[in-house]
Amino acid sequence: MSQTNGNSPHNEQPIENVVIVGSGPAGFTAGLYAARANLSPLLITGNDYGGQVTITYDIENYPGFPESLSGPELVEKFKAQAEKFGTRVEFDYVNEIVVDRHPFVVRTASGAEYQTRTLILCTGARPRYLNVPGERELTGKGVSYCATCDGFFFRGKDVLVVGGGDSAAEEAIFLTRYASRVRILHRRDRLRASKILQDRVLSNPKIEMVWNTVVTEILGQNGSVAAVRTFDTVTGATAQLETDGVFVFVGHLPNNDLFPGKLELDADGHLITDRKLRTNVPGVFAAGEIQDKVFKQVATSVGQGCAAAMSATRFLEELEAGHGVDWRADPREFVAERAAVPA
Ligand SMILES: Cc1cc2nc3c(=O)[nH]c(=O)nc-3n(C[C@H](O)[C@H](O)[C@H](O)COP(=O)(O)OP(=O)(O)OC[C@H]3O[C@@H](n4cnc5c(N)ncnc54)[C@H](O)[C@@H]3O)c2cc1C
Repeated sequence: MSQTNGNSPHNEQPIENVVIVGSGPAGFTAGLYAARANLSPLLITGNDYGGQVTITYDIENYPGFPESLSGPELVEKFKAQAEKFGTRVEFDYVNEIVVDRHPFVVRTASGAEYQTRTLILCTGARPRYLNVPGERELTGKGVSYCATCDGFFFRGKDVLVVGGGDSAAEEAIFLTRYASRVRILHRRDRLRASKILQDRVLSNPKIEMVWNTVVTEILGQNGSVAAVRTFDTVTGATAQLETDGVFVFVGHLPNNDLFPGKLELDADGHLITDRKLRTNVPGVFAAGEIQDKVFKQVATSVGQGCAAAMSATRFLEELEAGHGVDWRADPREFVAERAAVPA
C-alpha cells in the first residue's frame, strides 16, 4: 500500500489515498485511524466545523470523560489527535463528488479538485425546520436551533421549545440556566426522550409541558419573536402563546446533497451502507449520521468513523495487491448484510 500519496499517471496532481468529507466525530475519527495506517488522509471540514457536537453544551455520555466536557472542547481534542498522526485538515466545502470513475474526484467551493483512491463520507445531519410562516424571517431574531449558541440572549426571558425527543429535552434543561420559564410544546401526550432526560424535564420547576400541541405560525413584533399560534391535536382548539424565543428541536435531516443519483440512499435520504460501512460503490465508505438514523450519538459516530477507516485501509491493501477496484468478492454479500439490518 502507498504510505504516502502517489502521483497520477501524468504526474499532474498527487492522488490521495483517503479523502474524508466532514469534521464531526465520525470524520475526525476516520482521520485518526487512516492517519495511523500511514495513509496521510485529507479531511475537508465543511461549513460546520466540528459538526453537531459543537452545539452541545455538556457531553456527559462520551466514555473517558466522567467530568463531562463541552462539544467544542471535544472537537478540539478529536482534531488534535487526528492531526498528531498526520491527518491534513482543509477548511473547505465539498461541492461535488465523482464516483463513477476511479480514482474518484472531489471538487470544493474554493475551486480545489482532488483525486482519491477512497472516500469516507461523514457529512452528518442538520436540524429539521418547522416550515411554518414566520420561521425563516425570524430565525436569528428569536427563532433558534441551538440553545448553546443563543440561550445566553434569553436571560430572564420566556422561551418555548418545540419537540419531544432527546435534543428537545436536553436543550430545554440547558435553557433553564437563563430563561425564567421554558415551555415544551410537543405534538403528543408523552415525550420520546430517554427516561433519565424525561425525569429531569418533568421535575424541573422552570419547565412546563404543553402536550398535544403543534406550532402553526411564529409571530413577530418590532423584528423579534413575540408569540406563536398553536393547534391542539386532540381538541382542534387554536391558541396564541406570547413568548420571547422559539427553540426548534424536531429532528434531523441527513446532509445528502452530494449523493442523489451517485450513491444508494434509503427512503429518508441516508446513505445505505453494509456492516463494513461500504456504500454501493467500492472504495466509497460512509460513517456517522449520514448513514445512521438509529443510534445518532457521538460514541456511535466515532465507532463508525473508525470502522470506515479500517475498511478503507483494507480496500487500499486489496487495490495494492492488484485486485482492482471491483474488490467485493460477491456483491450479494452486501445485499444480504443490508437486508439483515432492521430499518
Ligand atoms: C443539540 C444536540 C445535542 C446533542 N447531544 C449529544 C450528547 O450529549 N451526546 C451524544 O453522544 N450525542 C449528542 N448529539 C448527537 C451528536 O452530536 C451526533 O450524533 C454527532 O455529532 C454525529 O456526528 P457525525 O460526524 O456523523 O456528523 P455531524 O456532527 O453532523 O457533522 C457533519 C460534518 O459534515 C460536514 N459536511 C456536511 N456537508 C459537507 C460537505 N458538502 N462538504 C464538507 N463537509 C460537509 C459538516 O460541516 C460537519 O462538519 C447531539 C446533537 C445535537 C444536535
